[in-house]
Order: sequence, then structure tokens, then C-alpha cells
Amino acid sequence: MDKTIKHSWAEPFKIKMVEPVFITTEEHRKKAILKAGHNTFLLHSDDVYIDLLTDSGTSAMSDRQWAGMMMGDEAYAGSKNFYHLEETIQSYYGYKHLIPTHQGRGAEHILSQIMIKQGDIIPGNMYFTTTKLHQELAGGKFMDIIIDEAHDPESMHPFKGNVNLKKLEAIIKEYGVDRIPYVSISTTVNMAGGQPISMENLKATRALTAKYGIKIIHDMTRVAENAFMIQQKEEGYQDKSVAEITKELCLLTDGATMSAKKDAMVNIGGFLAINDDDIFEEARNMVVIYEGLHTYGGMAGRDMEALALGIKESVQDDHMRARVGQVHYLGQKLIDADIPIVNPVGTHGIFIDAKKFLPHLTQDEFPAQALASALYIDSGVRAMERGVVSAGRNKETGAHNYPNLELVRLTIPRRVYTQAHMDVIAESVECIYSQRNSIKGLKMTYEPKYLRFFQAKFEEI
Ligand SMILES: *Cc1c(COP(=O)(O)O)cnc(C)c1O
Repeated sequence: MDKTIKHSWAEPFKIKMVEPVFITTEEHRKKAILKAGHNTFLLHSDDVYIDLLTDSGTSAMSDRQWAGMMMGDEAYAGSKNFYHLEETIQSYYGYKHLIPTHQGRGAEHILSQIMIKQGDIIPGNMYFTTTKLHQELAGGKFMDIIIDEAHDPESMHPFKGNVNLKKLEAIIKEYGVDRIPYVSISTTVNMAGGQPISMENLKATRALTAKYGIKIIHDMTRVAENAFMIQQKEEGYQDKSVAEITKELCLLTDGATMSAKKDAMVNIGGFLAINDDDIFEEARNMVVIYEGLHTYGGMAGRDMEALALGIKESVQDDHMRARVGQVHYLGQKLIDADIPIVNPVGTHGIFIDAKKFLPHLTQDEFPAQALASALYIDSGVRAMERGVVSAGRNKETGAHNYPNLELVRLTIPRRVYTQAHMDVIAESVECIYSQRNSIKGLKMTYEPKYLRFFQAKFEEI
């Protein structure tokens, strides 16, 4: 039974301050998207009405977090906010050592450089853009070990973030333990549509890796959202709190990289957390080169304070019920309107299946990119592409990678938009669905070398 949808999820907060947003004309939006080369990343946010580009750094901080900002200790070394953050991470997540970084990819960079050597293999439950790139830049190769259901937008598997243990063991046997520095496990798998991994599966993955003496590094960007889904769906977890489940997940792993801009509701920040003393020692040396001294690592003291408080808020059951409840509210509206979306609905957004939405376009015509552009023109709602553009090119052959999932992501920031905003989004998607045959494909006119989805430009065919 799915309590997330059935039970009321009204927000456990009221609004104290508002930020005006502007409703533009269709003519204005057409000009804006043309100038942006049909890439929603290149729009000015002033031209956007409801911004669903990402849930990264876009959530609303609480009055307590803002109060924490005023308690920033901006000492270059040994800021009290660092110690508060360290203590919070030890007590809420259970990791031993903390290296603060400016955001998630800062942690990924340091960890990859320390742990990966040329020719290594990093198995993981689906790739993430920045994570995979840092693994490759360090000389490694990512290999997907997620269950097949994760690549199928119609599969109703409740835990599409699960690891296929047979695939993992086959990789270990083929390449050998020495070439596998760690297994990369993400809690909620972003690229699969925000899908959770089950506790049972993570325990089994832990048991298998322990047998071979291989570490698990946890991409814990949305760990509390994953914990909530376990509470809602996994046998035996109904009476455990999100906080308890979150810690249980972390304790099954050896270290983590965190983009605090998601779960932890800060505008900027992240960290590397690690139990191994030697890796910590090396990371502490390296962070000084790339991020900042080991007691701030690219964050201001006030940012570390807001992060410590955000971690505590992120694992509150009431908060999570409202956060995921809002996403599911929008999801249900789209399901009721027969819009093809990734099922079951994940935790941080709705992923529209662009292949199904625009069957008249081939993947070479960038259907998800074209759909995101059409949605913006219709209503000023800004979404993003998660398909062939995001997947980049094959390093060896130079050809596009063609992922099974060609998606448009409607990502919901935490505590920012209202139910009426969700209604407007659903209406707009329904409106373009009724006119879908008129949406044209795109061709790429500018392609950056790395993470091309951020800056690529397109023209209508
Ligand atoms: C956002 C994200 C990252 C990268 O974090 P940044 O803070 O954007 O650098 C890594 N993994 C996942 C799953 C993410 O969603």
C-alpha cells in the first residue's frame, strides 16, 4: 500500500516571506528560448515563471536556517560551524570524518582522484553526470549494475534503484577485486527518475562487497528521500522514522559524497564523509588545493551552519511527507491525464517519457530537449532534458550515447511552490500534449566538450 499518495501531505510550515515571479507573454518566451538555443539552462531566470530546472540549491531555507546564517563564524581555521556540521554528520549519518566541499562534485573530484587509478572499474546503480565524469577523469570506467527495470519507464517495480547482484558479481569476477576501488551506490537514483533502493538490496550489496573486501561509496544526495520511500513501501520499516532509516542506510556504506543542495536544503554546499582514516588523511591534504582549508572547504561558516540545521530538518517525517507528497500530487494529475511519465513516481520530480510523448521524433532529433522547449513556450515552466543530450558521447567511438530513457524532468524544489503552481504545471503539460504533433525536432548547433547539456545550443529542424 502506498501511503505517500493516500495520506494528507499538507505542509508542516506557513509562509513568512514571498518572492515575486513574473508571468510573461508567449511572444516574449519564444524570443527568449530562441536566444537560449532551445536550451533551458541558457534562459535568464527572470524569464521563467515556475522554475523546475532542478531541485539543486533552489529549496527554501527555514527561519532557523536563516537565523543560523547570522551565527556564521567566518574564522579561516577552526570555525565553530564546522564542528557543529561535523557533529551533525556523525550523529545523523554515522560517518566518522568530514571534508566540506563547495558542492557535491567537489567531493566527487577529491574522492575519485584518491581512490581511482588508471584502468579501474567503478560499478554503480546507474550513472550520474558529474559522478561518472570525475570517475573517468581519474582514469576509471563506470559500469551500470542497476536492475533492468530501472531502464524501463513502465515497470512498476517499487525499488528501481536496486542493484542487480548477479551483474555486480560478474563484474567482480571478470575484472578482479584489484581493479574495483569501490562500488558506487546512489540513494534515490536521479537518472532513473528519482527511484529508491531498498534496504534489503543495500544489505545484500553490502554482504557481497564485504565478501570481496570492496568498499561502498554512497552518493547520499537524496538519502532522506530514499529513507522515506523505504518507510512507505518496504516491509518492516513502517514504524521506523525517516531519521532512523537514513542512518541505517549510511551505516551500510564506507563513505559518501553529498550535494547538500538537495536533501539538506541549502543553496550551496556539499561534503565528503569517510570512515577510513588513510583516505581521510589524503582527502584532507587534497581539499586544501582544490576547495579550501579542511575546516571550510569552499563553504562560508554561515553556509556550514545552515547546512547542519538543514540536515536535521531533512530527516523529519512531516517534512518528507509534504515534500514527496507534493511531487506525487503532480504525478497523479499527469497520470490521470494519460501523460506518459516514468512510473512509479519518484521523490524529487516527475519525469516525462519524451519518446512516448513525441513518437514522431527520432532520438537524434532530441525529443526531450524539444519538449522542454515547447513547455517553456507554453507557460514559462522551465524543465530540463535528461536523455541523449545529457548522456553525452561514447569516449571511444565519439557517437552519441543513446539511453533508453529519454526524459524531461520536472524537478520540484523543496518548500518553494504551492499546490496551485502544481495545477498550472499539469495544465500546461496537458495543453502541449494535445498539440504534440506540431512539436518539431531539433539539431545541435553548438556542442561543448564536457557535460554538454548545460551549454549546448539547438535549432528547430
Ligand atoms: C546533484 C547531484 C550530484 C552533484 O552535486 P553538485 O552539488 O551539483 O555538484 C551528484 N549526484 C547526484 C545524484 C546529484 O543529484
